[in-house]
Amino acid sequence: MQLPQKHSATGTTIFTVMSALAQQHNAINLSQGFPDFHIDERLSAALAKATTDGYNQYAPMTGLPLLRQAVAANFAQRYGLAIDPDTEITITPGATYAIYTAFTAILQPGDEVIVLEPAYDSYIPNIEMNGAKAVSVPLSAPSFTVDWQRVADAITARTRAIIINTPHNPTGAIWSREDWDQLAALVRDTDILILSDEVYEQLVFDGQRHYSVLEHEELRQRSFALFSFGKVYNNTGWKMGYCIAPPELTTAFRRIHQFLCFTVNTPAQYALAAHLANGTEPIHSVMERKRNHFLSLMADTPFTIHTPTQGSYFQVAGYERISNMPDHQFAEWLTKEYGVATIPVSAFYSTGKDDRLIRFCFAKKEETLNDAVERLRGLRG
Ligand code: PMP
Ligand code: GLN
Repeated sequence: MQLPQKHSATGTTIFTVMSALAQQHNAINLSQGFPDFHIDERLSAALAKATTDGYNQYAPMTGLPLLRQAVAANFAQRYGLAIDPDTEITITPGATYAIYTAFTAILQPGDEVIVLEPAYDSYIPNIEMNGAKAVSVPLSAPSFTVDWQRVADAITARTRAIIINTPHNPTGAIWSREDWDQLAALVRDTDILILSDEVYEQLVFDGQRHYSVLEHEELRQRSFALFSFGKVYNNTGWKMGYCIAPPELTTAFRRIHQFLCFTVNTPAQYALAAHLANGTEPIHSVMERKRNHFLSLMADTPFTIHTPTQGSYFQVAGYERISNMPDHQFAEWLTKEYGVATIPVSAFYSTGKDDRLIRFCFAKKEETLNDAVERLRGLRG
């Protein structure tokens, strides 16, 4: 059978590969990003209540008004931003879907999209599935900051969009206000649109703050901002998220969304609306404690931490004192021989660029982190 090759990524996504390998070898899974602890009981109870109350049929296409209003109120409270729940917010089955939908709403064959690499692995396939071309610009290791001259050099008459991600998966780097100003200067007087993947917005550490594209009045007019409830409420398996964009872009987004999944899980929307309305505590301090605990444990291993992660629930580490294997091979070996699964960072580069780094997810119970690092203590530097 001849079937079309819709994108250039070969094989299965690394998150599936490493989680399966972890299971196969009974390894502690610090690879794919998901928490291993329970969600807030009030959220579980709200989900159960929604189904027993009979909220089991289709919700409106754009998302439950109650939930869109709760999201708007939450942004007013946390950022002081006025967002119109009817014309600017769309509820989606996760952020991955929202990114794909936004690309599909704006891309035509032949368009180019600038991607800063390392990048979350769905971006480039999503661009190519829409007949467009991804133009990669490397971030500057080891701090993974943006080299603005390289971004400027990558812009052509065909550039339709730039996708950015802060806090950044896999490196944990975060954007400053100046980064947004630099981006604004580059796209001013062009038709370039922005996709801003901000799924880890509430996981920023060391007293720093997240700057959302929505706070940049000039950029906001040309941006889709994408969010995930999974990263905020530790319920990644619910696959719930949302897109915030100005009315014209939201209309284009919904034009695709209505024929892609049409509407999103109703009881989950009721539960999240109730939970948001309750006013939930900030989550960054819990995750910051986990980061600090993980880093203190890792100090007794031969891994190298170049920069403590500033945001997200990932920490990148070097293993040059342990081995010079390519990172895929090293991650596989570590899973099989030491029982700890991680993600090779080269999976985030379309070129497979290998800086001999692996990514750990520390969104885990303290005992999981203790057990994992205990296993790694046997490694020799
Ligand atoms: N963007 C980034 C950078 C991510 O790490 C994730 C995590 N899966 C997503 C998007 C997607 O989130 P969701 O599970 O809501 O699709
Ligand atoms: N965002 C998570 C990660 O980067 C999970 C991604 C996925 O499983 N597709 O590990």
